[in-house]
Amino acid sequence: MSTDPFVVVHGKRFKRLLSAEEIQGIVRQLAHQIVQRHRSEELVCVVILKGAFMFANDLIRAMNIPCEITFLRAQSYGAHMYSSGKVHIEFFTNHQRLQDRPVLIIEDIVDSGLTLQAIRDYLAQYRPKSIETVTLLLKPDTFQGTPPEYVGKAIAPLFVIGYGMDYNEGGRYLQDIYVLDSETAGTQSTSNNG
Ligand code: 5GP
Repeated sequence: MSTDPFVVVHGKRFKRLLSAEEIQGIVRQLAHQIVQRHRSEELVCVVILKGAFMFANDLIRAMNIPCEITFLRAQSYGAHMYSSGKVHIEFFTNHQRLQDRPVLIIEDIVDSGLTLQAIRDYLAQYRPKSIETVTLLLKPDTFQGTPPEYVGKAIAPLFVIGYGMDYNEGGRYLQDIYVLDSETAGTQSTSNNG
């Protein structure tokens, strides 16, 4: 972990919210919960790009059970901090592979829940046996909809980056998770790319 609690990305200052060690502790707990429930069946893990790639990498290795891994990209039109409600989905597998199988959606962060609902609706049309969601972070103050089955940590409705999550494609590489610092918060221009 860096000793400096601040990073600057595209001119905005972010403050550390969760260290890499704290994140790994959360990931281990989530993996344990999922394995307890799905030890005897092979999950189809649907990793939501791009933001969940780092989380999914650590989670799937911590689960260490046989599973299939595939990717889905969901983009809100406008790609701003607030979801527009219209979500464009690209699914990188043959959807017939979902039929009668248990699906685990792996998300980095759920804010309003609109993106997750669109993903669930999209996957449901291919008749999986079940659909569950694991998200590393959830913003309960802004969330509406079907709650994810596995939630790593609830956070305030603030903009975060790091550990796969970006600000205009910056900051994804960071090992820790950072929150937009209050001194620079308040602008409406903060955007991400999934
Ligand atoms: P929704 O509001 O539909 O739940 O969230 C839409 C998408 O916006 C999420 O899947 C995630 O990619 C992105 N998102 C939501 N909150 C944040 C945040 O605080 N930081 C970043 N980098 N992306 C976010």
